[in-house]
Amino acid sequence: MKIVLASNNKNKIKEFKQILKDDEILTMYDVGFYDEIDETGETFLENALIKAKTISEFLKTKGLDYPVVADDSGLCVEALNGEPGVYSARYSGVHGDDEANRQKLLKKLEGVENRKAYFQCITVEYFSDGSYKVGDGRTYGTITYKKIGDETFGFDCLFLSDDLNKTFGEASAEEKNKVSHRFRAIKDLFSK
Ligand code: IMP
Repeated sequence: MKIVLASNNKNKIKEFKQILKDDEILTMYDVGFYDEIDETGETFLENALIKAKTISEFLKTKGLDYPVVADDSGLCVEALNGEPGVYSARYSGVHGDDEANRQKLLKKLEGVENRKAYFQCITVEYFSDGSYKVGDGRTYGTITYKKIGDETFGFDCLFLSDDLNKTFGEASAEEKNKVSHRFRAIKDLFSK
């Protein structure tokens, strides 16, 4: 079956393809969608639905009714009442400035002993009739006091994984994908 993924992120595409081996995964570019989608929701679910619905409506204008899969994720820190959560990508105020986001997090946790945190991912499969299924995945750990490992993605180098006993920044892609919130949310979605 053809499924459209509401993302052009290479890592996400790879992860979805690994799990949905029997389906043909199309990206937004594959179906000719090149616009930015504003993630204006206040929850992961709202943002995932905004992305999925936008692509589904776009497909309809082309006479296509493929299901659309979308996700949204972020880091939730216990001592900060779940912050940065849905605002993870723009915690510092500048969208996608990972280094500034990490510095803000470390600053907020200065002197804080409870460093418990989890990454959460919400996935949705959205159908052309407006119905949808939801998947939820979490992965638990603690926030380190300094960066450890690869700094290329988000909060990876500050997240000491309970499952791996190392930071996501130190883990290989294969190691991380086996325990990641996204992997678990995709599994959860397609087990329903
Ligand atoms: P998105 O769901 O890909 O839009 O992710 C939102 C933001 O959450 C990212 O920009 C990162 O700051 C953070 N984030 C989500 N998943 C991860 C992860 O696996 N590692 C590190 N940061 C993540």
